[in-house]
Order: sequence, then structure tokens, then C-alpha cells
Amino acid sequence: MNSTVDVDYLVVGAGAMGMAFTDALIDHEGDVRVALIDRRHGVGGHWLEAYPFVRLHQASVLYGVASTLLGGGRVQHRGPEAGLQERATKSEVCAYFEHVLADRMIDSGRVEFFAGTEYVGGRTFVSRVSGDRFTVPGRCRVVDAHYLAPLVPAEVAPPFAFDDARVVPVNELAHIEEPPSRYLIAGSGKTATDACIWLLARGVDPDAIIWVRPRDPWMLNRAVIQPVPEVFLGMVADTMQAAESAASLEDLFLRLEDAGIMLRIDRSVMPAMAKTPTLAMWELELLRMIEHVVRLGHIRRAQRGLVDFERGSLAIPDDTLIVHCAGDGLIRRPLVPIWAPGTITLQPVRSGFPCFGAALTGYVEATRRDDDEKNRLCPPSPYPDSMVAWARMTVVGARNATSFGAEPDIASWASQVATNPARIPPDVERSAQLDDALGRLQTHAKPGIARLAELSMPPASS
Ligand SMILES: Cc1cc2nc3c(=O)[nH]c(=O)nc-3n(C[C@H](O)[C@H](O)[C@H](O)COP(=O)(O)OP(=O)(O)OC[C@H]3O[C@@H](n4cnc5c(N)ncnc54)[C@H](O)[C@@H]3O)c2cc1C
Repeated sequence: MNSTVDVDYLVVGAGAMGMAFTDALIDHEGDVRVALIDRRHGVGGHWLEAYPFVRLHQASVLYGVASTLLGGGRVQHRGPEAGLQERATKSEVCAYFEHVLADRMIDSGRVEFFAGTEYVGGRTFVSRVSGDRFTVPGRCRVVDAHYLAPLVPAEVAPPFAFDDARVVPVNELAHIEEPPSRYLIAGSGKTATDACIWLLARGVDPDAIIWVRPRDPWMLNRAVIQPVPEVFLGMVADTMQAAESAASLEDLFLRLEDAGIMLRIDRSVMPAMAKTPTLAMWELELLRMIEHVVRLGHIRRAQRGLVDFERGSLAIPDDTLIVHCAGDGLIRRPLVPIWAPGTITLQPVRSGFPCFGAALTGYVEATRRDDDEKNRLCPPSPYPDSMVAWARMTVVGARNATSFGAEPDIASWASQVATNPARIPPDVERSAQLDDALGRLQTHAKPGIARLAELSMPPASS
């Protein structure tokens, strides 16, 4: 069956970014109609396929859509993160997005959701279940809400060959029936750290874990990425202050480590990776218990009893379970202007925090007419992978925050949106700590950003 869906926007991808964009758009554009589609069976994007023990790595309130708080904004009162804000589990994130879809979007009468449908280009999407084809009219803007969608281990093959070795995606850890003599964790990002922590917290002997870390990661101390203005802005002020006089990026990251902002697992190794998810101190302590770390580059081939790397080989017990944690949580593709004729390509706008970037894009789309002006206000900001990319993200994000923050309506809207980590809510109680952070930002932001811009430039060729 072929039919036309009479909408103004076709949002392709119902993950966090597509949801955050749609939510802000319908909140601020009076009469708009949206078709939201996803090839998956529901909303929530990669969370639907994530490993069962995943949680948000930062506070729940910093994630989701602008209109609806994820979680209750509660502080944890017990456990190893007492004092820090709650973090939603996979099922809480999925339930939240279902609730937003039903109660906010469908109930508004302005959004229709097409599950299990594939966008095939040419303003057309096709049901993967019935084969029905749908087209949208020429005036309809197509919103690419999957441009930077992460690749998760459950859905991508391991990036190495394997013959008769036991290789499973990280999701399978939750279904183990017989413990192997060794777990070999392949990957050094957030998924791999989650896998190690989950095993250790369930009593696995640290010596039973072999951790393949082609690059060591820099991670942010979760205690300073909190939705509390004096904490978050204090962290930004510390970062700017450190950047201002940093001799190099390595020097900067070491200063940030001394300031309690950046963490690394092994203090004798300079990490090359800086995707910078957050980590708690109790997690860091667990990760440091793993001594068998393999730094021979990426795995090339795994066989029963032997793993070949870029720079050598390692004999392993025959029953070793190789845990594939090597998806790409933060996809790196070239940044493109968010607004182009007929399309909108969602990307982060400030440093990190993709949900806020997508909501801001929805708000700007709803409140401005000229695409050049929208692109001027919201250039895309990269996801970081290395220290230099982290510096570039910080520069672009800070410059963007200055440009969109200079628009009174955006500044006012952004100060009320919980997913904006840098907001100062209108009713916030001023404290000496907050005034100190704001004063130091005033002094150090400009020179700090200027120095970061220098440090993120490619070295001049001699
Ligand atoms: C394990 C993990 C934990 C994370 N934790 C955090 C966190 O705590 N905080 C944070 O800010 N970020 C986190 N991230 C980063 C992540 O980038 C964001 O979570 C964000 O959810 C990504 O959302 P997205 O909408 O870009 O992608 P997705 O969630 O992948 O959504 C994109 C959707 O597009 C659909 N799609 C793609 N192509 C098509 C097509 N042709 N037709 C139809 N549908 C299509 C896909 O099915 C998918 O559902 C995490 C990432 C991972 C992998």
C-alpha cells in the first residue's frame, strides 16, 4: 500500500536526539505536524539494544527532552554515589521515552509515530513489517536524527576476525551460566569500563580479567558533572583557568587531573583517548584492581588459545570468554551545517550533551525563519575522541554558547531547560561558591578558550 502522510516534518530516528528535537519543536511552533519514524520497534534509539546493566553515565536530569524531567532530580542517599544525582537505568530511560511519546507527543495530536519503518530517501519510508510505503509532501523538512547515532556491540560485529574463540557482545554477560577461567574485555570506552565494573562488583577475581586497552581513556569525574550551578560552572572555571596557562594538551589534562576533573585509570600512562564519559571514584578504584592490561594495539584475530594484536600475540586459556565492547558509542563523521535546503541534520551544539543540542535545534527551528541565521546561532560541535578533539569541542561549544546565549529569548528558554548543564535556574539561590565560579569564569573564559584554540590547531608544518 502507498500513502501520503501530510506532515511538515519527517524526523528520521526516534532516539534521544530525534525525541528532544520533536519535543521542543511542537512546544514552540503552533500548528506543526510531525511524522517520527524509526526502524526499531519503539522509541529510545540505542537504549533498546543496550546491555541490561547500562545506566546513564551522568545525572538523569541532564538527559531526555526539554519538557519532561527524566527521573525526579533526586540526590542518591545511599550506595557508593551518595551525594550525587540519580542516574537512570536502561529500563528507566526506555520507559521515559515511551511516556514522552504517548503523553506528550501522540496526545498533542501533532505527532504520529511509525515504528519499524526505514527511511529510504526521496521523502519515502517503508514498513519493514508490512512493506507499506509512505511519502511526505515536498514542503516537508526531513530531519536526520541518526547522523551521529552510536554503533552498539549488540548490533555490530566485533572489529576483528575470530575462528573458534568464544566471542560474545557485552549484552551476553548478563546471561552467563558457567563462569570461564578468564574474561577478555575488548575495548577501552564506557561500555568496556561498565563491563569490567559489572564483573568486579559481582565478585569476579580481578586476575580473571584480561583488559585489552588499545588506548587508555581520559574520563570526567562524575562528582563535578552535576546539575548544580556552582559545581558545574566551578568545573568550567577550573578548566578555563587550567587551559589559560597550559603548555600543551598533555599538560592541560594533567592539570585537570590535579584539579579533580579528569580521571585516568593508570597514572603511569598518558591516555590518547578523550571521549570523556563520566566515572565515579568507586568505579575508578575497581578498575584499578585489574592488573592484566594488554596494550598491544587493536585485536586482529582471535582463536581458541591465542589472540593476535597489531603489535604482538597473547596466549589465553582455551575457555576464555572474549567480550566484545568495541562498538563506537560516539560516532565520528564530518560535521555538516545543521540546516540545509529541505533538511536538518542533528548534531551537538554545545560541548557534549546531545539532548540539549537537539532541543535547542528544535527551539531555534520553531522560532526563526532564516536558515543562515539558524546556522549562525547553532554551528555543530564535534563529539571528542582524542585530547585535540576534546579541545576543539570545548572551543566550538563555548563559542556557540556565547552566540546563542546572546539572544535573550534563547537565554531565557535555556535557563529553564534541565538538560542544559550550564544553566542557572531563575530561582536559584546565590551562594559564595556560585559567585566565585562566575567571577573566575569572567576572568578566565576568554584567555582559556583562546589558549585551547591554539592547542587544538594542527602543528604548523616546517
Ligand atoms: C551505552 C551508551 C551510553 C550512553 N550514555 C550517555 C549518557 O549518559 N549521556 C549522554 O549524553 N550520552 C550518552 N551516550 C551517547 C549517545 O550518543 C546519546 O546517548 C544519544 O542517545 C544518542 O542518540 P541518537 O538519537 O543520536 O542515536 P540513537 O539512539 O541511536 O537513535 C537513532 C535512531 O535512528 C534510527 N535510524 C537510523 N537510520 C534510520 C533509517 N534509515 N530509518 C529509520 N530509522 C533509522 C535508529 O534505529 C535509531 O533508533 C551513550 C551512548 C551509549 C552507546
